[in-house]
Amino acid sequence: MSPLALILVSMLAMTGIIALRYLLSSGGFALATRLTRPGLYKGLDRQIGAEIRWSLWSALIFGVPAGLVAWGWQNRGWTLIYTDLRDYPLWYLPVSVALYLFAHDTWFYWTHRAMHRPALFRVAHAVHHASRPPTAWAAMSFHPWEALTGAVVIPALVFVIPIHVAALGLVLTIMTVMGVTNHMGWEMFPRWLVHGRAGRWLITASHHQRHHDNYRCNYGLYFRFWDRICGTDKGLAPDFATASARASGAAKG
Ligand SMILES: [Zn+2]
Ligand SMILES: [Zn+2]
Repeated sequence: MSPLALILVSMLAMTGIIALRYLLSSGGFALATRLTRPGLYKGLDRQIGAEIRWSLWSALIFGVPAGLVAWGWQNRGWTLIYTDLRDYPLWYLPVSVALYLFAHDTWFYWTHRAMHRPALFRVAHAVHHASRPPTAWAAMSFHPWEALTGAVVIPALVFVIPIHVAALGLVLTIMTVMGVTNHMGWEMFPRWLVHGRAGRWLITASHHQRHHDNYRCNYGLYFRFWDRICGTDKGLAPDFATASARASGAAKG
């Protein structure tokens, strides 16, 4: 096959993997929601249908740069992805994961904030906020313009920051799980974490839910760092404290 045909095959394969990853992760947490909080998504069938359609289009858009870079990595020696653990010191493994998450978070914060300006919001970001309230299926529910801003991040970072292939897998797993759980409508992390010292810096569902309620705050992805230093952090969704608090609240009435 010609290189062009191989690149297309790689893009299609990546699209398939990303679509499957979405269906399994969102489907898994949607099932967990149904089992632990029956009725939370009641009346949202039409919205969920739209979330799934937009997400599958996003999988196609994410697959294009990912497929190109995966091909170049395998066939042309592109990227700083390494497979031999001895290439860098072991302490660099967690550092590389932290660097990727921080770089991704920084890109997300500023592009997300820009997309909340009225003109850009209508064009690129209204689709994501059409989920009211979001569900586990909204993880990749983006307009193609917004999907494009997300799709280029990791494929660009692998040219700049060295990372072991397993550490990259961990970054992608964190990205996937947080993307789903931050939208699923309930807090899965324990109260001591969400309301403790770590929770002041980490973003979980309680934080992102407030962004979907309020629109003008809490723009971050993984960390509250940029929100805090830019004064856009408005804290956690008030009636959304933790799984146990919500469950006991629901039990009361
Ligand atoms: Zn969101
Ligand atoms: Zn937003």
